[in-house]
Amino acid sequence: MGRKEDNIEKATKLIEKPEKIRNMGIAAHIDHGKTTLSDNLIAGAGMMSEELAGKQLMLDFDEQEQARGITINAATASMVHGFGDNEYLINLIDTPGHVDFGGDVTRAMRAVDGAIIVVDAVEGVMPQTETVIRQALRERVKPVLFINKVDRLINELKLNGDEMQKRFLKIITDVNRLLGKYSPPEFRDSWQVNVQDGRVAFGSAYHNWAISVPAMATYKITFKDIVDMVREGKQKELAKKAQLHKIILDMVIKHLPNPKEAQKYRIPQIWKGDIESPIGKAMANCSYDGPVSMMITKIIVDPHAGEIAVGRVFSGVLRKGSELYVSLAGNTKYKVQLLSMMVGPDRISVDEMAAGNIAAVVGLKAAIAGSTVSSIPDMDPFEPMQHYTDPVVTLAI
Ligand code: GDP
Repeated sequence: MGRKEDNIEKATKLIEKPEKIRNMGIAAHIDHGKTTLSDNLIAGAGMMSEELAGKQLMLDFDEQEQARGITINAATASMVHGFGDNEYLINLIDTPGHVDFGGDVTRAMRAVDGAIIVVDAVEGVMPQTETVIRQALRERVKPVLFINKVDRLINELKLNGDEMQKRFLKIITDVNRLLGKYSPPEFRDSWQVNVQDGRVAFGSAYHNWAISVPAMATYKITFKDIVDMVREGKQKELAKKAQLHKIILDMVIKHLPNPKEAQKYRIPQIWKGDIESPIGKAMANCSYDGPVSMMITKIIVDPHAGEIAVGRVFSGVLRKGSELYVSLAGNTKYKVQLLSMMVGPDRISVDEMAAGNIAAVVGLKAAIAGSTVSSIPDMDPFEPMQHYTDPVVTLAI
């Protein structure tokens, strides 16, 4: 069995273990490296060729490969990552931050419980960094920080160690100021990022390496070693010693919540129905017993399957053949004709999708992005998603 097939098999086994799932997004100001990081994580986890990842603009590749890149960017990609003695299913949901700025970012944020905020080490915190942090926190999505393009500080700006430290400190302070400003009050302190516990990683998404303070001990590498290797043109070697996907996915597993933990505090924010009702309880507990509830975050169009509704299952178990109601579509029931998960760029057909997962469903014809889907006819819909424009624009209004 190839690595990819092996991963697919493992992924389908993890969908019923919520404590082993992380639903996360990557959010950044334009050009700070979100796409490069996403591609390299997926490739590192064995789901896409490493040559292709992050080099889309530079390489000439065939149409199918290009189409795959687009598929990845279109919705979600699941990866399996080993951490300690366990394997985890990481669902990376694309949060299109730039072109289609606004609604789509917020919708994607609804599906995730955690986010990697990417900040370019050269540019620092920019207006859209603030916007995406605000979007994430409004949805009670917990952040970690990746400071990207560190190779440029070394090779282009030729900074020394002290100067680099100063830059990192400024970025971390700026990010924490925003986290302090927009975090839900109960997480204002505990969601601040810090270097010591590993909620901040540094690296180069393009050159495929990263490091964090705890990882320096685990992988036996110092910051000085890294700087020396980059200066000496040994980034390929560095990418083997301090692998981007390992360090970033370790950080995700360790510091971002699983759906069971997250739904407890997220549901009261994103759904205003009766939390003591059967569906309210099922969602707050991410329970498999109880009614199905799902929020559609995106509709994608597949040349073979037609319209596919992608979204987060918050309670119950979605089954092929189930009949479900779609908000604003009256009492009509829609049959789940095909159910799948996206593993890397591939859509894998499954029979069941349990609470806490991201599912792709064919058959929910009335669904649009933002629809509430449920096995009960009168479920209170999820809160509409509010999106923010750039702070600069907000100030001008
Ligand atoms: P996005 O707009 O946030 O998705 O950013 P991209 O991933 O498209 O990256 C923007 C540009 O920065 C591209 O030209 C990338 O090749 C480049 N880039 C991304 N990460 C790095 C990095 O770590 N180092 C360097 N030198 N360039 C990078």
